[in-house]
Order: sequence, then C-alpha cells, then structure tokens
Amino acid sequence: MTKIINVIKGTHDILPQEVDQWHILEENALKIFTRYGYKEIRTPIFEATELFARGVGDTTDIVNKEMYTFEKSDRSLTLRPENTAGVVRSYIENGMARLSPPVKLWYKGPMFRYERPQKGRQRQFHQVGVEMFGVKEPTADAEVILMAVNYLKSLGLNDLEVEINSLGCPKCREEFKTRLKEVLKPEFENLCDDCKNRYEKNPLRLLDCKVESCKAIFEKPEIQKVIQSDYICEECAEHFSKLKTYLDKLNVKYTVNKLLVRGLDYYNRTVFEIKSNNLGSQNAVCGGGRYDSLVRNLGGDDTPAVGWAMGMERLNSLLSVPQPKKLNGYIVSNSPVDAFELAEELRNNGYNIEFDLSNKKFTKQLEKASKVADYALILGEDEINAGKVSVKNLATGEQKTVSRQELRSIL
Ligand code: ATP
Ligand code: MG
Repeated sequence: MTKIINVIKGTHDILPQEVDQWHILEENALKIFTRYGYKEIRTPIFEATELFARGVGDTTDIVNKEMYTFEKSDRSLTLRPENTAGVVRSYIENGMARLSPPVKLWYKGPMFRYERPQKGRQRQFHQVGVEMFGVKEPTADAEVILMAVNYLKSLGLNDLEVEINSLGCPKCREEFKTRLKEVLKPEFENLCDDCKNRYEKNPLRLLDCKVESCKAIFEKPEIQKVIQSDYICEECAEHFSKLKTYLDKLNVKYTVNKLLVRGLDYYNRTVFEIKSNNLGSQNAVCGGGRYDSLVRNLGGDDTPAVGWAMGMERLNSLLSVPQPKKLNGYIVSNSPVDAFELAEELRNNGYNIEFDLSNKKFTKQLEKASKVADYALILGEDEINAGKVSVKNLATGEQKTVSRQELRSIL
C-alpha cells in the first residue's frame, strides 16, 4: 500500500459539513461592515519579509519566532502572520491617501504563525479584520469597537467582554517604561526568561506575560501602584476619556484593564480585546487598537489609523453548528434524459436539484431523496407521457401529480 500523506500539524481542513458556519461568518462580515461604509480588500498571502519586520516589529514574538519565511530568487518572503501590515502596504502603494478620509477597509483570510498548536491555536488560522485610515479622533476608535460588538451580536454572541486600555503616546509611554523598569529591577532575577529578555527590549510586554510566577510579581502592591497610575499625558488622557464617554452613550459595556498591552509594537493610545469565558485559556476572539505611526514607518505620509482582527476558528467554536441545508428536490426517474432536462430547468430557475446519475433502482432513489431533499420529484413513464411530475413532500409524505408550472409554486 502507498503511504498516505497527512495534513501538516497545526493546520486543518475545513470540511463540507463545517463550511456553512464559515459562510455565516463571511456573509455577516460583508453585511455588517458594508453598513459602516467598509470595502473588502484582498492582499497577497505572502509578502516581503521586511514588511513584517518593520510593520509588526522586530521585538515581537511573531517576528522573532513565529514567521514562515522562505527564499525564492534571492528574495526573503514570508507567509503573512497578520494582515494589517499588508493592508497598510497596499494603502500606501495604491495612493489611497488621495481618497477623502476615512478610508475603511476589511479583509478575511488565512494567517500563518509557527506557534505551539493547542485548542484555539493553529499554525494556519483565519482572521476577519478591519482597518480605518485618516481619523485621529476617538470617534474612530469608538466606531470600530462598536462595529466589532455589532458583528458579534449578528452572530448571536451577546455576552462577550470588551476590555480597553490606553498605552499613551511614545512620549508619555517612555516615562511609564522607565518607572516600570525601576520598580521591577529588584525582581529581575525572579522573572521568566522571556520577561528577562523583554525587560530591556520592550518592558511593556512584561505585563502581558502568562507565566504564573510573573503574574504574581505584578500583583505586588508597589508594582501595582505603578501599573494602576495614570501615567498618560493630558492629550492621551482626553482621547481615552472621550472614547469611554462614546462607549457609555452607545451602551457598549467594557472594563478598563491596565495590564492589556497587546503583542504588537505598533499600537499607541487605544488598545482593546474582546474575550469569551467559554474558550478556555485561548480566550480572546478579537484584538485591536490605534496605530498612528505605522503608515509612516512603512514609507507613507503621517496617517492616523485604527483597526482590529478576530480569530475565525475561535468564533466558530462559540457558535452552534447550523443544520445542513437540504436540496429543494431530488428527481426519481429511470430516464436520465428527462431527469437532466427537468433538473436543468429547475436549476436555471434557482432551485437546488440532484438526481441519480448511476441508474439505481427506484426504491434506492426514493431512499436517497428522503435523506437529502425536501421533495422527491418522481418522473415515471406515466408522468413523462403526460408531461407532468409527481411531487412527494418528504416531511409529510403527501404526494400529488402536477404540471411543471405548478411544480415551481410548490418547491
Ligand atoms: P493571542 O493572545 O490569543 O495569541 P494575539 O494577541 O496573538 O492573540 P492578534 O495577533 O491580535 O492575536 O490576532 C487577533 C485574533 O486572532 C486573536 O484574538 C485570536 O482570536 C486570533 N488568533 C491569533 N493567533 C491565533 C492562532 N495561532 N490560532 C488561532 N487564532 C489565533
Ligand atoms: Mg499570539
């Protein structure tokens, strides 16, 4: 026997019985985001490695450990680990700055990260996300958060928790980093190896650490005092306070989480996550924030921007599996030509129709019909001679012989 080839660890097939759920996620995204003026953008799945090194940040886990990078014709290419950098590249390259702001874009598709596969964490996973360019006011932050909440509501997910925080601007954040490093210095030897590394490179990221012994350190009163202090400058504080006012007025429930710093380097001011209590330890379905310096860092003009991404596998695991859709009709006949002809007529009028292609017995065909369709459309010799069809409602068993015209009003 020839050896079979298996799917790669951390990747999954999306099977036919699962795909209806994916369509619901995608159709609702199109419907809801269109209401807010967003247009879909589709960027390539691989990009120049440098785009992510510069766009995601070379102090992040994503760039340091998780990228699928390969060489082709002396170029270093990378499978996208996220899509904000790609969308920003396209925004700059296609001169979208010339459009009157805001420019509102959404995307969906596969992302690739070399992480340890576990529940809610794959190496190929899918995100749906949005980016808004050109608005520095907190109205934009409020609108993208509101839209995320409404998208989740459209899927029937009403009880998720929105957490927000402000990282301040590069200026006020520097002060905070300095104070944080000072107060953590006596604990340095007790930090995990990752945190020891982050201490110099990106001290804010320490607050994000999932290691219990680190979390315990951050609970110490003198450290909490620094974390909970209102270190952000006046302008950043005003931005955050306006955002909270908008969310309050719009009845979006949220909590402020001072430990929320997000994994990516490019965020400033607002960051947020939406979490579920039903997902175990990979509990975030949505992450996002404001990234006012990214467009410039990637070579464009200064452009404020804000956006988020949701993990579609995690969304799917919160939704109940929809009933598979049945065919409108299954034709039962021993005359393939007549069956073909009726099937095509109905298909061309928008009905979903199948019939037996391998000349099985009538009873077998009826059995199949009752499994896959709402109606059996019987085309026996009598029906064919009379130019009619016998329609059997497979839920009630009721059957009658009708003209082709009448048939359509029944299906
Ligand atoms: P996490 O803290 O769960 O690793 P993250 O901060 O790395 O998330 P983002 O890069 O902001 O996540 O991506 C947004 C969303 O994409 C996450 O909230 C999550 O739902 C989903 N996601 C991220 N990484 C994975 C993965 N490896 N497998 C499945 N879903 C993922
Ligand atoms: Mg991650």
